[in-house]
Parts: sequence; C-alpha cells; structure tokens
Amino acid sequence: PPDVEQLGRATWTFLHTTAAYYPEKPTPNQRANMLMLLRSLPVLYPCTWCAQDFGEDIEKNPPDVSGRVALSKWLCERHNEVNEKLGKVTFNCAKVDERWKDGPPD
Ligand code: FAD
Repeated sequence: PPDVEQLGRATWTFLHTTAAYYPEKPTPNQRANMLMLLRSLPVLYPCTWCAQDFGEDIEKNPPDVSGRVALSKWLCERHNEVNEKLGKVTFNCAKVDERWKDGPPD
C-alpha cells in the first residue's frame, strides 16, 4: 500500500499549486476539467478511506471552480476538514496564496 503521508503531502502540493495558478476567469473547458480532476479523487485516490471521506465531503461541499480565489479557498477548507479529522492544526485560509503562490512578504 502507498505511504499515505507522503502521498498526501504530494497530492496537496499538486492540488493547492494547481488551484493557486488556476485562471481568474476560467473557460468552460477549464472549469469542466477542474471538476473532473476533483471528482476523480474519490474514485481513484489510492488511499481508500481517504478517498471515501473526501467523496462524502465534496458531496456536502461541491467544488467551486468559478475562479482561482474561490477554488483556492474551497480547497483550503477541504484540506482543513482532513486536518481536523487527523487532529492537526487548521490552516489560515487567508494565507493560501502566500503559501502556494507568492511566498512570504518581504
Ligand atoms: P499536509 O496535511 O500534507 O499538508 C502539506 C502542507 O500544506 C502543510 O505543510 C501546510 O504548509 C499546507 N497546508 C496545511 N493545511 C492547509 C490548508 N488547509 N490549505 C492550504 N495549505 C495547507 N491521511 C489520513 O491519515 N487519513 C485520511 O483520511 C486522509 N485523507 C486525505 C484526503 C486527501 C484528499 C488527501 C490529499 C490527503 C489525505 N490524507 C489523509 C493525508 C493527509 O491529509 C496529510 O497529507 C498527511 O497526513 C501528511 O500531513 P502533513 O502534516 O505532512 O501535511
């Protein structure tokens, strides 16, 4: 079975970075593909209990693919759901661009 922690860090890195660079005004095609990417996780993510819980979470909280700010916030909230479930500290979603796009202010 995969290393769930390493897989998780790699997957969150990919997802948050992709959200951070998602267009402000995505085309219908970009929106549709982002929706497919997110909806494929409950089907394909190779940590089965992670995939199951994530599927339930995104059913309650459907992806907002309308633009980068909304998508980054939505994804941050989903990651915080997992953080809470695992007893980790939650992340301040106001800092999501600083963490995944802009880097710390100087
Ligand atoms: P991670 O949680 O992997 O976070 C990586 C980095 O992201 C952090 O160092 C921080 O800088 C940043 N970050 C943290 N929170 C946020 C946030 N809310 N928004 C933006 N950036 C943030 N593991 C399980 O054991 N059980 C599960 O059910 C489970 N479900 C998962 C579901 C999904 C969809 C994914 C992608 C992963 C899941 N994982 C699960 C893995 C788990 O979330 C962690 O990736 C893993 O435990 C390693 O944690 P970490 O403390 O190294 O940091």
